[in-house]
Amino acid sequence: MIPDAARQEFEDLLGDRFSISPSIVEQHGRDESSRPPCPPEAVAFATSVDEVAEVVRICARHRVPVIPYGAGTSLEGHVHAPHGGLSLDLSRMDRIVAIHDEDLDAVVEAGVTTANLNRRLADRGLFFPIDPGAEPTLGGMASTRASGTTAVRYGTMREAVLSLTAVLHDGRVIRTARRARKSSAGYDLTRLLVGAEGTLGVITEATVRVHGLPEAMVGAVVSFPELEAAVQTVIRTIQLAIPVARIELLDEAMVDAINRHAGLDQAVRPTLMLEFHGTASAVAEQAREVGEIAAELGGSDFRWAADAAERERLWEARHHAYFAALALRPGCRVVSSDVCVPISRLAECVLATKEDLASTGLTAPLVGHAGDGNFHLLLVVDPDDPDERERIEAFLDRLVGRALAMDGTCTGEHGVGLGKRRFMEAEHGEAVEAMRAVKRALDPLGIMNPGKVLP
Ligand SMILES: Cc1cc2nc3c(=O)[nH]c(=O)nc-3n(C[C@H](O)[C@H](O)[C@H](O)COP(=O)(O)OP(=O)(O)OC[C@H]3O[C@@H](n4cnc5c(N)ncnc54)[C@H](O)[C@@H]3O)c2cc1C
Repeated sequence: MIPDAARQEFEDLLGDRFSISPSIVEQHGRDESSRPPCPPEAVAFATSVDEVAEVVRICARHRVPVIPYGAGTSLEGHVHAPHGGLSLDLSRMDRIVAIHDEDLDAVVEAGVTTANLNRRLADRGLFFPIDPGAEPTLGGMASTRASGTTAVRYGTMREAVLSLTAVLHDGRVIRTARRARKSSAGYDLTRLLVGAEGTLGVITEATVRVHGLPEAMVGAVVSFPELEAAVQTVIRTIQLAIPVARIELLDEAMVDAINRHAGLDQAVRPTLMLEFHGTASAVAEQAREVGEIAAELGGSDFRWAADAAERERLWEARHHAYFAALALRPGCRVVSSDVCVPISRLAECVLATKEDLASTGLTAPLVGHAGDGNFHLLLVVDPDDPDERERIEAFLDRLVGRALAMDGTCTGEHGVGLGKRRFMEAEHGEAVEAMRAVKRALDPLGIMNPGKVLP
């Protein structure tokens, strides 16, 4: 419970940016998953690091849980408030503080979105490559260690974040590193906070790497008679170190759903969507090499999308895969689950998963950032059908068990939240105890997004 004294202090500090309005509170208690909402008691909209620090100090004084909130696009119950408390919304901290063209980095407040950052960078011939399908904030992306279709070439938030400014449990403000590209100075607190899901501190500012816009970008689509051939094409491409910028795998169910949703006419077969970045001659060379691998494995209809508008249409359709799956069964929700395995095990994992899926009768198109060994199942669930929900949970247990048996992970990019806590012991064993020790050290009162990540 937020005590009356704390409410008064929040109001004095924030005025009408402290809210207990049912609609605002409700909106902050749900994400994009199928999980029922679990709202906080109140929402605070911060506009500066000093305000964040003061809000956290009040929370600490009154033992109020504080749940950082970016755009609420996460998928595993990350922003739910099972212990009540305060949702601390960072979306109004949306200033781009600096763009250092010469150093290829940008300093942004936590609430800046990728779309806004890219709009500003484009004027300078730069871009920020990490592109989750929704429109998240950089603070949320750092906190979930997010990635997306381009991680195969540019890495994930783990690689993108150079430094963070964060507020700790007692309101102290720390900066985890300078802007230097590398440093051997001390513990890597940047990497500790990246992926911490708000359980160790509140990120208020991030310094991220940016990249020069490539001279040429070319997209391509190729389809295959069998899913295995498509996956083998990915594996060979990666093993041959062809620097693809994107290599996305879609099974036929996913292609069909996207065709219907986006009005495309792709052949309804296992498909790879590709993109190549570089000089004109480099992209032509990369595309030729991948085209040859695909052709050897039976790929056909290798279609080019050199024209920017056509390429954007294809990637927009891919980014709307979640909504395309949702449209398959009106009134249903989507459970989007991702696992990631070493690339050499990808075909085995995908094929065993498809076989398992076929035996369950569930609707679940498959789509994935396959170049990283990462794939998603978009499980369409009727929220009023407990039996279907149970079958999905059992399927997810088997999916994660399979990925872990291949030395993979229960989540390549969506994070743990509430949904994947049950797999943490199986994945990390004794290391979970070390994580608990870190949590106790950095959040001794247990107020930072309690109940998340650790089982
Ligand atoms: C259609 C769709 C497609 C998606 N595709 C991808 C994808 O390709 N790749 C991918 O990685 N993810 C994907 N996601 C998931 C989601 O977009 C990411 O998890 C994203 O990083 C969440 O950012 P957010 O700003 O919405 O954070 P929120 O959902 O608001 O918060 C996520 C977590 O981070 C914490 N947090 C938020 N801001 C801060 C902060 N400033 N300081 C400390 N903690 C904070 C929250 O407490 C919570 O635990 C997708 C989601 C959807 C709906």
